Amino acid sequence: MKKVLIFLSFALFLACKEQPKGTAETVLSNTTKQDTKPTVNTFGIVIHGGAGTILKENMTPEKEAAYKTKLEEAIKTGHTILKNGGTSLEAVEKTINVLEDSPLFNAGKGAVFTYDEINELDASIMDGSTLNAGAVAGVSVVKNPINLAKEVMLNSPHVMLSGRGAEQFAKERKLEIVDPKYFYTENRMKALKKVKKAPEHPDAKSATSFYDPEIKDSKFGTVGCVALDKHGNLAAGTSTGGMTAKKWNRIGDSPIIGAGTYANNATCAVSSTGWGEYFIRGMVAYDISAMMEYKKISLEEASKEVIQKKLTKLGGTGGIVAIDHQGNIAMEFNTEGMYRATMNANGELTIGIYKE
Ligand code: ASP
Repeated sequence: MKKVLIFLSFALFLACKEQPKGTAETVLSNTTKQDTKPTVNTFGIVIHGGAGTILKENMTPEKEAAYKTKLEEAIKTGHTILKNGGTSLEAVEKTINVLEDSPLFNAGKGAVFTYDEINELDASIMDGSTLNAGAVAGVSVVKNPINLAKEVMLNSPHVMLSGRGAEQFAKERKLEIVDPKYFYTENRMKALKKVKKAPEHPDAKSATSFYDPEIKDSKFGTVGCVALDKHGNLAAGTSTGGMTAKKWNRIGDSPIIGAGTYANNATCAVSSTGWGEYFIRGMVAYDISAMMEYKKISLEEASKEVIQKKLTKLGGTGGIVAIDHQGNIAMEFNTEGMYRATMNANGELTIGIYKE
């Protein structure tokens, strides 16, 4: 009898023990799947490499070619995954890795410097099929912050980790750790020096206060990716070094779910880039999804309204890339340019930099 009682209490203990988030499979089975599947059997992917004062007259043919080559390499990486039946989540992560590993973009290797001459990186990712999400802020030794965001989503009970704790988690999850010097690039250091030397403008809160594009856009260059896979699932991800000369552990919109990143199978997947403070205040990525959900309007209409009307009215600058559950895409920005690319199920590729 005593033995039976001991056995029963042990079984009860096991049943009541809180389940860790565990593997992706555990998470998926624990989370409600969105029931909206695409009505068309398609897939697609869209990326951005930051928005800002990107003018043809400031660009050399070599620089332009370098950006286009990297955007193409990145989007083809994700497209191949989707074509082979891989998940949108994997496509988003691997595509962003290509951009993070390039010094051209303000994410990973090419991250901008803080005022104190260090790099603090932010990233987030969201799975539209479960509304599960992961984010990290202010990490300085993680080579690919988007991978860490995905780890947070799949293998921790949390949505957002920051600073040293996030780095500790990265080590525990055996992600690639680098010396902080890995993020040093000459160009970003030059940009920081320039921004630090620039006289404080009396109207420094306004984006239009700076006329030197390098200073004016010292806040831009983030990378992002949204994708729809063959299984009808949407995902979005964003990775950034934040704003040049940022102080006080400033965190922008990129790691904030709803501002920098959002995905919901019922509506769309969105990744933002621009002046983060405004994107946080406008909850830009979620607002586009909410407009589609509540107003029953198209992705294109919702994106236009949020970027061209609401964000602009607030004084914010930047843009988004987005894809809906039917594979329709949107690339909306209120700046002079936005590095961007799209690929659809037919393998058609578009690459853009300037305003059309
Ligand atoms: N949104 C980013 C931030 O504010 C910057 C960017 O998009 O380039 O941190």
